[in-house]
Formats: sequence, structure tokens, C-alpha cells
Amino acid sequence: MTQALGSPPIVDTHTHLDDPAFDADRDSVFDAARAAGVRYFLNIGYAPERWESSRALRERHPDVRFAFGLHPQLADQYCSSLRQDLKRAIEHLNPVAIGETGFDFSRAAPIFAQQARAFRGQLEIAAEYRLPTIIHQRDASDALITELDRWPGLAPIVLHSFDGTHRLADWARERGCFVGIGGLATRRTSESLRGILTRMTTDRLLLETDSPYLAPPRPTNRRNDPTNLPRIAAILGPLWNLSGEELCWLTSVNAVGLFGLPTVDRSSTSAAFGRHGEPPTPRC
Ligand SMILES: [Zn+2]
Repeated sequence: MTQALGSPPIVDTHTHLDDPAFDADRDSVFDAARAAGVRYFLNIGYAPERWESSRALRERHPDVRFAFGLHPQLADQYCSSLRQDLKRAIEHLNPVAIGETGFDFSRAAPIFAQQARAFRGQLEIAAEYRLPTIIHQRDASDALITELDRWPGLAPIVLHSFDGTHRLADWARERGCFVGIGGLATRRTSESLRGILTRMTTDRLLLETDSPYLAPPRPTNRRNDPTNLPRIAAILGPLWNLSGEELCWLTSVNAVGLFGLPTVDRSSTSAAFGRHGEPPTPRC
């Protein structure tokens, strides 16, 4: 559990560390991530069985937090009993957010009517419990804007692994949404995405891996895991004229405020940020 002296605190705001991809070496993945500076892991329980595996993960690893919801690719499972189960899970287990939910218009996804029903049901629950909503969006920027415009009073919205249009980025900035950035934006083919991301202000950025998915380039292993975050931050920080360390700091402060996490410890970071260990001032 030792953390590297001088490494900035990191919050991985979107992981699936309960995934079977980690069954063989889960504990060592956690240890390596902590050594790289990761202080909190937000595990996304995107289906009822993943609510339970997220809970079990938290029991073993106290630096895990979780979000509960139903993934849009599973929207055909949404029904009144799932809704009741989700509300019961929220009341008993205190997730820090609802999600991931949203719209996914890729070919294999359920029909729109099913996705809309599941999404609206979860937005209602997010409103009722005043929880942030973590959104998965694929090829659905305009539909997402239309839907969320009907819900002006929601708690903060997170657009996870942002991959939307200029219009969605501008809308998200106006609305004050948070955006998750990670391995996807580091890819050579993501040049236009990087351009779009610069429209977002640094007070709304969150770091995430989406482990085991979306590995950054040159993986030693095709499986993504949270130890990649310092490298991801070093690649993406310059988009906002920040170092990787500064991006880690800023995004951790953002995540702490958004999800109500215990504050990140500054004592081990003084080497990176001068004697006082203060986080850098946002530059835009
Ligand atoms: Zn996910």
C-alpha cells in the first residue's frame, strides 16, 4: 500500500476492477496502482450482478467507491423490479453516483425505446437521491442533449470517456458537466477528440481508465489498468497547458468535490508541488 513519495494523488473515476479480466491478479493490480499514486477507485456497477461485485470489492479494498446503474447496452433488462432493486441498493450501500447510463447507438445496442425508458428511469432515481449521473454516450450526442435538456435540476452530470461532438462539448460546458478523460483521447487516431476536449475548462475534468477497456497506446498488455494514469495524464495535460502532475492534482480535487470523497492527502506530494504541497492554480 505504499505510495511513491512525490507522486500526485490520482482518482480513477471509472473502473471495472471487478471484471473477470482481473481475477488472476486483482490484489496486485490494486497495489501497483496505489504505488503509482491512485488514492481512490470508482468502480462502476453497470448491472445488478456488478452492484454486488462492486460491494464485495469495496469490502476488500477500502479505497474503492462505486456507482450503480444499468448500462444502455443492457437497457432491455430495465423493469420495475430492477428499479426497486436499484433503489434498495442505493439505500443500503450508498453509491456515490448513478451509472453508467445513457444512450448507445452502436449497432448491437437495444432499440431506442428501451434505452430511453431505462435512461429516464435512472435519471428519475438520480434526481430523487440527489446523486451525480455518470453517462455513457456512443454515437448519440444529439439525442443525449435533447434528453438531458428535459432534466434541468439534476445533480452534476459526468460524460464518461468523452467521445462526443463539438456541439455536445459546448453544451456540456454551458451545463457545467464533468468530462472523463483517459486512454481513448491519447490514441494517435483521436486528434479531433483532443481538439474538442480543449473546449472544456479544467475545473470539470476527471481522469479515468475504464479498466480493463480503452488501454492507451504502447500497452505492455492490452488490458488497461489504473497504473496507466500517470502516463495518460502526461500525454493529456499539455492540452490545457498543464504537466501530467498538475492534471492529476486538478482532476483529483475535482473528483473529491464531486463525489464527496475524503480529501486527498497532500503530505506526500510536497516534492512535486513545492514546500506547501498546494495544488496548482487552474490556468483556464
Ligand atoms: Zn464503463
